[in-house]
Amino acid sequence: MIDERSDNPNVELPETTPELIDTTHEQPNTDDTSIDVLPEAQEEASLESEKGDSTIIDEAIIADAPGRTSMCVEGRSGSESCSGSTVHLRWGARTDVGLVRDHNEDSSLLQAPLFCVSDGMGGHAAGEVASRITVETLAQETPATPNDVQLGECIEKANLAIINAAENGEGKPGMGCTATAVCINENMMSVGHVGDSRCYVLHAGKLVRVTHDHSFVEELVDAGEITADEARIHPSRSVITRALGSDPDMYADHFLIDVNEGDRIIVCSDGLNSMVPDAVIESLAVSSVTPQQAADSLVAEALTQGGHDNVTVIVIDVSSDTREDNHLKMQRDFFKKTVKALAIFLAVLFLSLIVLVRTSWYIGTYNQKVALYRGLNSNFLGLPLSNLTETTDIPIAELPQGTQTKLIHGIAVNSEETAHITIESYRDQIKTMQEKAQHTAKDTGLATNNSVGSDNTKGDNNE
Ligand code: MG
Repeated sequence: MIDERSDNPNVELPETTPELIDTTHEQPNTDDTSIDVLPEAQEEASLESEKGDSTIIDEAIIADAPGRTSMCVEGRSGSESCSGSTVHLRWGARTDVGLVRDHNEDSSLLQAPLFCVSDGMGGHAAGEVASRITVETLAQETPATPNDVQLGECIEKANLAIINAAENGEGKPGMGCTATAVCINENMMSVGHVGDSRCYVLHAGKLVRVTHDHSFVEELVDAGEITADEARIHPSRSVITRALGSDPDMYADHFLIDVNEGDRIIVCSDGLNSMVPDAVIESLAVSSVTPQQAADSLVAEALTQGGHDNVTVIVIDVSSDTREDNHLKMQRDFFKKTVKALAIFLAVLFLSLIVLVRTSWYIGTYNQKVALYRGLNSNFLGLPLSNLTETTDIPIAELPQGTQTKLIHGIAVNSEETAHITIESYRDQIKTMQEKAQHTAKDTGLATNNSVGSDNTKGDNNE
């Protein structure tokens, strides 16, 4: 058997591969590993096959019909959800036991940027062990970079780990599982894949399946014998051709694809796509605002359609900020930036003010005498921006009127030294003015005396 989906189209599947065709992961409450299609499902599938494509279209229309009753998954017993985010990714996930099974054999891994869904098979205490070993192995072994070769190797390690576990008495012989894993880093996504779990990418409102099922019905689709929608309801839809847990030489598909901001990635077990047509998956993925809402809506739809299988859905948004409350985030970011800028501005202003106050001087008055102040001759929020550092014995009243007026309003100087020079100049100015006044007074007195003496001489002469 040639697998056209492998990385090397010339690689031939090992002889043991056909046995996987009889392996199933749709075992309702039994350890029997024979072909697993539920009798009810078989009957339903046969009926729907006879109806043809028109029935499938009707089903999609009904699924989208307004007012249609839908299962509620929130708080449901056997249903669990988990969500989270990083700078570039936002995700939501839900797993549900379904409406037929009594336990959940699916396991999932949410270890950003690595995500994985593994669908266990082999019955109770087996399928869930295999799927758990798979996600645990991937969690430990897979690097946090989108390297598809390494991702494929990690899935192959998980395959060997399951085989070894069964040989050592953990789980049960024949247990197995699928594995669909993605690792997303900005615009690159690596995909590792074995089995019929799936990875979809919702890009620009269009859903694209990027994995190829390793299943019997997928081969029929590839051969052009049935359509994809017919495969979903085919009686042998649960028969898979490659799985982890039985063949030590099993290999995993692996590849890299580009993803873009706004893309929505969906990784799911076949409990989703076996119950819900791709058209409805697309519709629900487009209409859901958050990844968690999308995961919940998809699981709810699978249950509404019958919930025949365990169903696990992981939804990952790339740069999901563009989808959810982007406006509110922008407002928060703007507010934070504004507050930060304002705080920085006030801090710089305050520090500048302190520096200015510490390095400024002015000459003013204190008790009608000349005085020296450090700081600015002003107030800030009612607080003075200066303090008195030195008083003098120079009365301002003895200075010229113009100088007095300037001193009352404060005379700014460049430094303390300049202030002292200016103050001493006032002192010298007063001294000069006093000496000048004394000289003037003396000259005036002499002139008076001379005048009186002259008058007396004249009188004497007259006598
Ligand atoms: Mg399944």
